[in-house]
Amino acid sequence: MRIVIIGAGAAGCFCAAVLKQRFPQADVLLLEAGPAPMKKLALTGGGRCNLTNSFALLKSVDEAYPRGAALMRRALRAFSPGQTLAWFEAQGVQFTLQEDGCYFPVSQDAGQIVRTLSRAMQQGSRVELRCRSAVRRIEALPDGGFRISGSDFTVDADKVVVTAGGSVRRDFLAFLEPLGLEIVPPLPSLFTFSIADPALTALSGVVVEQARLSIPGTRFSASGILLLTHWGFSGPAALKLSSYAARALPECAYRCPLCVNWLDLSQQECRTMLEALQREHPLKTCANARIEALPHRLWEVLLAKAGIGTQVRWKELSAAALNRLCLTLTAFPCEMAGKYPHREEFVTCGGVALSEVSAQHLESKRFPGLYFAGEVLDIDAITGGFNLQAAWSTAYIVAMSLNIP
Ligand SMILES: Cc1cc2nc3c(=O)[nH]c(=O)nc-3n(C[C@H](O)[C@H](O)[C@H](O)COP(=O)(O)OP(=O)(O)OC[C@H]3O[C@@H](n4cnc5c(N)ncnc54)[C@H](O)[C@@H]3O)c2cc1C
Repeated sequence: MRIVIIGAGAAGCFCAAVLKQRFPQADVLLLEAGPAPMKKLALTGGGRCNLTNSFALLKSVDEAYPRGAALMRRALRAFSPGQTLAWFEAQGVQFTLQEDGCYFPVSQDAGQIVRTLSRAMQQGSRVELRCRSAVRRIEALPDGGFRISGSDFTVDADKVVVTAGGSVRRDFLAFLEPLGLEIVPPLPSLFTFSIADPALTALSGVVVEQARLSIPGTRFSASGILLLTHWGFSGPAALKLSSYAARALPECAYRCPLCVNWLDLSQQECRTMLEALQREHPLKTCANARIEALPHRLWEVLLAKAGIGTQVRWKELSAAALNRLCLTLTAFPCEMAGKYPHREEFVTCGGVALSEVSAQHLESKRFPGLYFAGEVLDIDAITGGFNLQAAWSTAYIVAMSLNIP
């Protein structure tokens, strides 16, 4: 039996490695479009590879997976973050857990994960890896099995695993067209926001530890660290919001009003803090005695936006001015003027519709013997190791579903 895996990324290589553990003599051919396997994996987490997450800080799996949460709940039961860590630890990788729930290898080197998977794929009769072999077409054969072709090759397979990842290129999944599967149109997710407010972009480098970013009039809202950059907003809060609103934002061409709560506090909580400042520092200027959670440069801009001079003392602040400051801190209006144009998005939402696959085996309902894993499925997550966990869990399910006589 010949198994062909299309795409040597995280999901494809992990699937091949687990398959080899189960069936060392299995005939596995891994076709990769690029010049080498796992190119993206080597770049993950800024080269450190945020391999997975403890999930401890989440209220629910839905929070991490704006698309595909139901399937991921099942997939995480089949192969959890704990099992993922144990699998890599058994191969000699040690991990460190950050306060934010993210796991990284102690080596802080994504290359170690790439080398570990490469080694694991060489167990038994090694996986045959063919790079520079982009698949252009896949068709189901009348008597069972599949024919896969590229510009200069054709191979037949009994079982096929598609792990081609994600891309917003229109022709990206064209090779699946002969099968007529439903494809959810791919769109970028996890991008940063251009903001048309020179007072904010002048604050490039400022970090706000706990802010909330929302799109007024919608349910889209995300909290966390917010980074101010020379083009606008970045950091976990912005990336998370881009993920939650990834399907909605193209409808307004990535231009819409935004609301920033710089402290992620209710108006009442914020007012209590301001009144405490007023009580404790009546003679200090508003610029000098500030809410400590907000960096000085940002505080001065926010005072100006609220129409409060930096030399005004706290005891001189009128009730109306305190109200304005409270609103500026908790419901600051600004405009998203587009996605940041010069940076790749981190993941694609969309891909093969989940209705096309059985949740238990990730096998095509219409074409038995055809499986899907990783980002090629309509599953994507916020940042924090959740995207790679989706790749590990779905690839594991497929590897365990493939039975070789
Ligand atoms: C810069 C960056 C950093 C990231 N950091 C993290 C992180 O730290 N933690 C995290 O959880 N997620 C991270 N992600 C997201 C994560 O890398 C992806 O979700 C994950 O790699 C998806 O794995 P995959 O195997 O499904 O797809 P990929 O890793 O993209 O692999 C797909 C492979 O298929 C190949 N392919 C595509 N089409 C064909 C074809 N027609 N024929 C043959 N081969 C084909 C591609 O060349 C590629 O090698 C990051 C993404 C980026 C871009």
